[in-house]
Amino acid sequence: MQDPFQSYLATLHSTAAVLGLTTADIDALSTPDRIIERTLEVERDSGEKVSLQAYRVQFNNARGPYKGGIRFHPNADQSEVKALAALMALKCAVVNIPLGGAKGGVAFDPKGYSKAEIERVARAFARAFANDIGPDRDIPAPDVYTTAEIMGYILDEYERVHGISAPAVITGKPLALGGSLGRDTATSQGGVYVLEELRIRLGKERSDMRVAIHGFGNVGYHAARILHSLGYRIVALADSKGGLVSERGLDPMAAHRAKHETHSITNLYCEGSVCDTVKMSEDAARVVSPNDVLTMSCDVLIPAALDGVITEENAKDIRASIVLELANGPTTPAADAILKERNILVIPDILANAGGVTVSYFEWLQNRTGERWDEEVVHARLRPLMTDSFNEIWSIHDERDITLRQAAYVLGIGRILEAMRARGKQQ
Ligand code: NAD
Repeated sequence: MQDPFQSYLATLHSTAAVLGLTTADIDALSTPDRIIERTLEVERDSGEKVSLQAYRVQFNNARGPYKGGIRFHPNADQSEVKALAALMALKCAVVNIPLGGAKGGVAFDPKGYSKAEIERVARAFARAFANDIGPDRDIPAPDVYTTAEIMGYILDEYERVHGISAPAVITGKPLALGGSLGRDTATSQGGVYVLEELRIRLGKERSDMRVAIHGFGNVGYHAARILHSLGYRIVALADSKGGLVSERGLDPMAAHRAKHETHSITNLYCEGSVCDTVKMSEDAARVVSPNDVLTMSCDVLIPAALDGVITEENAKDIRASIVLELANGPTTPAADAILKERNILVIPDILANAGGVTVSYFEWLQNRTGERWDEEVVHARLRPLMTDSFNEIWSIHDERDITLRQAAYVLGIGRILEAMRARGKQQ
């Protein structure tokens, strides 16, 4: 599998050719401002002391304080965190919010740690990076295997170290600590706003839009739920345990209940070990492997699980006409080229899933002003940011005859370089 930072550089270089960027521009966009690596000493419940590698990459802050999540994952390493930090800088620029890009990670498997141990890792992270983060400096948020609760521990520890109250140091917090209403559904809602804009442009009815969703966690479930409620037909769903397909349409709420009660959406038609095969056959439903969902016949494919799932091997078998990338980095550069060749429209991650960081920005604004916005206000402010960015990207794609991903890079890179030039940091 391609190194994540190399994938970022591949798209950067292809866009640089379109934009006519100078070598100095490319260097500026290829080099993080700071890579901070620290070792966390954490005590396990057994009393054993372990050392965990922790990273924070601050990529670019020309447009505002660094912003980006922290992931707890065994594969977190410098290349991954660096690539994700670069994408955060572009994502914030694409939706035109005044923030830069960063990302953090701790390399360990939280599935093998107790709740108390995970809290100690979070607090150790906050202590180790207490002078690197801050409401005007660098604002972390949740990412893979980190939650609102964990953000609460980091906030608490940061405030203890500095002896101040600073809710705006972190977003994605629990509501009780100043989290924003609408943050949990923001990524999916933002993606739906963009998809709606594209559907209207293509002159399609919602009932004609058959959707397959790969991943049924926070992002995949809310996307399925919102699209279903709007009248889209959900024809396939997958989580890590299995996939379920039905040309007649699936009920995401029932799939969510099945996942909650039995840990797998594939039990949607079952009570314990007894499955309602009559209903399954009426609905023309069948269980498939998770990756079969990627190549289902549909109009919109939504990768909402892992990175690198659309590859050189399966890109030729994708049967959707639109791919809405709610996951980060789900399409490898080689697969991207194949999808382009096949005229499949890919709405890139740095636009499609930018609703999450946009509502994180709203949370930071609320913390700084002491305001509390209703969920309706959050949605009303999210929608124009998403649709304006989509329309700008569409115009660039149309005028220059480039992919939507390249057009999103053109928009984001242009804004970052403009800010760097205004600071006298770039010619
Ligand atoms: P999550 O952990 O809540 O859900 C992940 C889902 O993927 C789970 O349903 C899991 O079962 C499924 N999955 C794992 N392996 C799979 C496989 N091999 N096949 C099919 N499904 C599989 O995570 P999330 O918060 O929903 O994030 C999903 C993606 O969206 C990630 O790429 C994340 O970086 C990206 N993203 C999330 C947000 C956010 O606000 N949560 C914002 C931007 C981007």
